[in-house]
Amino acid sequence: MNQPVLGVDVGGTRAKFVVLDGEGQVIQTGEVASDPGSAARTLAAVAGALDPSLWPDREPDASSAAGLAGVGLACAGVVDPDRGWLGRSPNLPGWEDSDLFAAVGRVFGNVDRAVANDVNSALYGEARRGAGRGCRDLVMIALGTGVGGGVILNERLIIGAHCGAGEIGHMVLDPEGPVCTCGNPGCLESYAGSVGLLKAARKAARDGAAPGVRALAEEKGPDLTTRDLALLAEAGDQGAVALFAAAGQRLGQAVGNLVNILDPERVIIGGGVARAGDLILEPCRRTAKDIILAVEAKKTPIVPAELGTGAAALGAALLVASRENAP
Ligand SMILES: [Zn+2]
Repeated sequence: MNQPVLGVDVGGTRAKFVVLDGEGQVIQTGEVASDPGSAARTLAAVAGALDPSLWPDREPDASSAAGLAGVGLACAGVVDPDRGWLGRSPNLPGWEDSDLFAAVGRVFGNVDRAVANDVNSALYGEARRGAGRGCRDLVMIALGTGVGGGVILNERLIIGAHCGAGEIGHMVLDPEGPVCTCGNPGCLESYAGSVGLLKAARKAARDGAAPGVRALAEEKGPDLTTRDLALLAEAGDQGAVALFAAAGQRLGQAVGNLVNILDPERVIIGGGVARAGDLILEPCRRTAKDIILAVEAKKTPIVPAELGTGAAALGAALLVASRENAP
């Protein structure tokens, strides 16, 4: 039997991990606090949380991480998967411009290594075990605080010449639109990320256009979430429904353009905002259909992600396992 592999999704506050056995079955999942200042401390914390009794072939007195065949890491930011290099990273300032292959080696020894951008990793997980199973060509858009993206063509993640491919969240949809965190106006993120959506909700509340949203915003104050807005919309509040419809139309604009360029088999929408489901997906599908040129491609399925918040850790483990199994 092959040895187990570990996948770790390192966020700014938590590092989620999954261990797959040699058959690819999940044998442990967990999470530890991450240290945005130190890759070594974070990886050591993960190593300490592993349960090596789950894999029988280890040396009895070896360290807890002994016996792993490979370690895959998923991080937000610019990642060079060939060199194991992390460039700019918004959540992990102390990890920037560092050699993650070396960091993994210092904690886990001589194991196979893979490093990927977190959304690419989640997309790889979805492609292998989730909403993209069986597809060669996929696009994923992750609607979180910000908006991330990833593309798989011919079963390969597209990285780009400067490791910057897949920034779907920063596709400019309206040069007159609200200013995005990146400084450009009218990016998809400024409409369909949770920060953008909450901003739009507060604006609608102020303008008096959405009394239900206004009451909710006053009740929740700074704790208002897109989940709260989705519940209000599900209860039939038209102001809240309109907020998701507007975000969904912008998302559909991006999806329609991407389908025209890439012609994927499926488009996967993930992230916390996507938990609003058809509130955002139906307007997205309608808008995308209008934009998509090829008659056959108008039917491209636009589907919710299936793996939830564990997708990136699973994808990282599958990426390193695929490397291990390479000829
Ligand atoms: Zn932007």
